[in-house]
Amino acid sequence: MKKTFFILGAFGISSVLISWGIFGHEHINKSSVMALPQPMQTFFYNHIDYVTQESTVPDLRKYTLADRLENPRHFIDLENYGAWDSLPKTMKEAKAKYDDKFLTSNGILPWFMEEMMEKLTKAFKEKRKTDILFIAADLGHYMGDAHMPLHTSANFDGQMTNQKGIHALWEAQLPEKYGNTYSFNVPEAKFIDNVHNEIWRIIAASNKLKDSLLTIDNEVRKGFTEDKILKKDAEGKVVKNKFGSTFYSDEYAEKLNTALKGMVERQLRKSIIDVSNLWYTAWVNAGKPDLTDLDSPELTKRNQKHYQEDLELWKKGKLYGMDSEKDF
Ligand SMILES: [Zn+2]
Repeated sequence: MKKTFFILGAFGISSVLISWGIFGHEHINKSSVMALPQPMQTFFYNHIDYVTQESTVPDLRKYTLADRLENPRHFIDLENYGAWDSLPKTMKEAKAKYDDKFLTSNGILPWFMEEMMEKLTKAFKEKRKTDILFIAADLGHYMGDAHMPLHTSANFDGQMTNQKGIHALWEAQLPEKYGNTYSFNVPEAKFIDNVHNEIWRIIAASNKLKDSLLTIDNEVRKGFTEDKILKKDAEGKVVKNKFGSTFYSDEYAEKLNTALKGMVERQLRKSIIDVSNLWYTAWVNAGKPDLTDLDSPELTKRNQKHYQEDLELWKKGKLYGMDSEKDF
């Protein structure tokens, strides 16, 4: 739920907004483990299933537990914050400038990510295993959200421009449909000198893409009559997904995917790069603590048998054993 549980669209489209969907978040976190350098990677590989599964927990807090604090962490409606250079630099500054109600409805994503980085760095320094894994996996989710262009705008579902339903189509329906063609292999994680600037660079780049996405979708829409936009069954009845939401037809999804020229895959791959960069940076800033003694040697030894195989597979762009739960 970004703003409401069900978004009723211009064409009767409604969708629960899941932010990258299960497919996207799981693939981002899992690939980010594969992109880490050694010796850090051995520890994360020991917990790769946890980090993968935990990638969607922030959304579970938001929807399943209806945790009121959760929702604003996933987005920022940049246009409502005014000029770029007047933006608060930290969560503290944001809280001093705006009241709770404003921050809750307009989002706090970049400031929250920066706070998570501080917490992750501290967890590494103190070698608190459960905190490291939990915070890293959560941060992976929010960084993934930051690469979804519509998470940076008040027009988050195209609802202001008659493009409702575009959010879930872009971030969940398309990756689910075409994700088997994506390459999840990215360069090895690198150190980020200035985390604050990097987070805002990512937010700005994502926001810039928002207009291209909506413009491209508008063009595609012109080629469709209303009755061809929604997915229907053999009898012509509108189909709903497991959340009770109607969604786009295969023809529409295909046309949009072609017109986007790889945008979804590019953003997903950038998410992987930026998640692994931040995890690595937190570890370096914590003084590169030795993580090998956080797990039993038996566990590490057993996992190393599969590690090489998984790494070889990942170098070819694939991830081992992924069967993400379907949203559509
Ligand atoms: Zn999210």
